[in-house]
Amino acid sequence: MPGPTLRPATLAVTAGRPPHEADQPLNVPITMTSTYVATGELEYGRFGNPTWTAFEDALGALEGGRALAFASGMAAVTTLLDLVGQGSSVIAPQHAYNGTVAALADAESRGRLRANLVDITDTAGVIKAMEDDEDCAFLWIESPTNPALEVADVPALAAAARELGIRVVVDNTFATPLLQQPLADGADIVLHSATKYIAGHSDVLMGALVVPPAGTDDEVYDALKARRGLAGSTPGPFEVWLALRGLRTLHVRLDRAQANAAELARRLAEHPAVEEVRYPGFGAIVAPVLAGGADAGDFLVRATSLWVHATSLGGVESTFERRRRWKLEAATIPEGLVRMSVGIEDVDDLWDDLVQALDRINA
Ligand SMILES: *Cc1c(COP(=O)(O)O)cnc(C)c1O
Repeated sequence: MPGPTLRPATLAVTAGRPPHEADQPLNVPITMTSTYVATGELEYGRFGNPTWTAFEDALGALEGGRALAFASGMAAVTTLLDLVGQGSSVIAPQHAYNGTVAALADAESRGRLRANLVDITDTAGVIKAMEDDEDCAFLWIESPTNPALEVADVPALAAAARELGIRVVVDNTFATPLLQQPLADGADIVLHSATKYIAGHSDVLMGALVVPPAGTDDEVYDALKARRGLAGSTPGPFEVWLALRGLRTLHVRLDRAQANAAELARRLAEHPAVEEVRYPGFGAIVAPVLAGGADAGDFLVRATSLWVHATSLGGVESTFERRRRWKLEAATIPEGLVRMSVGIEDVDDLWDDLVQALDRINA
């Protein structure tokens, strides 16, 4: 087993492998079973699976904690919201992932909890909201946000929340553990849509939660694991195996995608059809806002041959979409904002494909 001092690229490749012993496979097999011979640790497929354990060990090593695999990112979101006491509140970014905002609104409409949506970049304002909210269960951070690409000051917010006895959740889907380690920054729980960068090939839906290492916050780990079993929000072994296979190359994929994204952000900013480029300076999501608004965005996504018009993000291939095409997207997201998930192709091919379309918008 790799030691805790190994660097992230080495952990991505080595964590969660079988021991180096004669005839052990290099990769953990896909364990397809619904049940186990009785009186052991596992007993039934909803309680545990060796393929899950390998994935959880690997993601846990990268985040510096203990991971739990879920059926999707939303399964992880709703499992966490289930832990909020009746009538308590959740402070969350107004521009959080729209599924998260919808889940909060749904829970609120059923009288389960109160959702308090804030500008997550306004650190003083968020701290004030926590101080003013007597019954706050969670400060929910997403950073960078999807798709506004706002960045939160996680260490400052986590320190303030700790003083007030509020638990901090960080949706780390966009940054990945390679660019941001929320537990080290003081957060209590990390959330991933593993569908995105962790699996990385647009071929699997999966989620994960990570809490501090054993011995630190064991009740939360036990509660989340129990809820996963009760809700049945468990992933299939094949999905988990694919996500683990994807995680093995996370560092090289992200390196290339990030370099491509930074270069495209720079070139886009100089194009006359582009009013503004949102790029936080790290990661591989870039969001140009087109001067021509919705029409220009709708033209762009149909006028390319390499870039695929598709939702979701974090795959090896470059995809993009105009976010306001979704009814659920916040009205404060500009009509002309196109969220680009930059892949690992050659950056000049990506640019050539974009610029021939952008030039025609301007003409
Ligand atoms: C996609 C996404 C989710 C939801 O994950 P699914 O795997 O689609 O259920 C949650 N948070 C963020 C930031 C996302 O991008």
